[in-house]
Amino acid sequence: TYLRVAIMGLGSYASRVAEAMQSCKKAKITGLISGTPSKLKTWQAKYNVPDRNCYNYENFDAIKNNPDIDAVYIITPNALHHPQTLRVAAAGKHVICEKPMAINAKEALEMVDACKKAGVKLLVGYRMHFEANTLDIIRMRKEGAFGKPLFFQGLSGFIIGNPNQWRMNPALSGGGAMMDIGIYSVNGARYMLGEEPLWVTAQETKTDPQKFKPGIDETIQFQFGFPSGAVASCLSTYAMNYLDRFFLNGDKGFAEMMPSTGYGPIKGRTHRGELSHPHITHQTTQMDEMAGIILEGRKPVVPVDGEEGLKDMVLIDAIYEAVKTGRKINLTLPRILPV
Ligand code: NAD
Repeated sequence: TYLRVAIMGLGSYASRVAEAMQSCKKAKITGLISGTPSKLKTWQAKYNVPDRNCYNYENFDAIKNNPDIDAVYIITPNALHHPQTLRVAAAGKHVICEKPMAINAKEALEMVDACKKAGVKLLVGYRMHFEANTLDIIRMRKEGAFGKPLFFQGLSGFIIGNPNQWRMNPALSGGGAMMDIGIYSVNGARYMLGEEPLWVTAQETKTDPQKFKPGIDETIQFQFGFPSGAVASCLSTYAMNYLDRFFLNGDKGFAEMMPSTGYGPIKGRTHRGELSHPHITHQTTQMDEMAGIILEGRKPVVPVDGEEGLKDMVLIDAIYEAVKTGRKINLTLPRILPV
């Protein structure tokens, strides 16, 4: 048995996921949802999807009655994740949703609640949570190889191209680099240190206000403080290419990854030597592991559920608030951030 997945949104990342899923053992594309009939035709031919399993954005609620579909993988612009997740949940299908899972914590919480109520699983497309070198560092940290972890640095950025794309439209993106690429450092700070932040500070800079309109952040530096006393210092930007580096230091050792979250191969080393796992297409591993979570109730080492996505949204909300107010934001949301 395998997880039968309908892909929603046939854009560039969906193409990458679909290609990678051809090597999956436990997951298979059985359905397609798109607003563009010509794309549906091409994808149907390539992935052998029958007409009865193809939908558009008006009629996809009918997947409710389609026994060929277990889950929908939502790979659309960020602001659409929330309404689409609620509709998929209402249709009784599991949801796999791309990052950022929503454009703020309020929406993310509604998604978590809706999926819980509908009795379906909600997973977020955190592909790094299944990447072998990343998991090696997490295992070493748990074993105490770095001693007491005290510092994380996350640098996430690339130069955004076409200014007319949805990523540059706040109504569809919910923000700029932070929502798109900075989230990798937000998320990475948490899984590399293995703690949830207590406070957030952040500063924004804009070198090109023509290109980056209000509501679209170009560059944000942010800092987290953790209960153990560890701190994180991170940069999110749409203004530099090849910025993709994680660094973790404890009182006894270090881990350095560069690239740390790109499509791979992931490279890096610790004080003990080079990271050595061979490259496997991230999305292939991700979708097989997610099938295991949904079909067999497997528990991943680093969670990828809605609550996990929600924690990042709470932190991104706090980062934007810190930028706006210039204040240190204390996180006092016990329901959302259990220690
Ligand atoms: P894209 O623009 O290439 O694709 C988006 C798709 O959504 C297009 O096919 C578009 O037609 C469709 N769409 C549906 N309704 C739309 C609307 N109202 N306006 C605009 N487009 C609409 O974008 P992408 O790079 O594939 O990103 C899609 C999602 O995947 C984003 O949430 C992004 O953050 C995420 N993503 C994740 C990763 C990762 O590594 N996990 C990588 C890239 C993108």
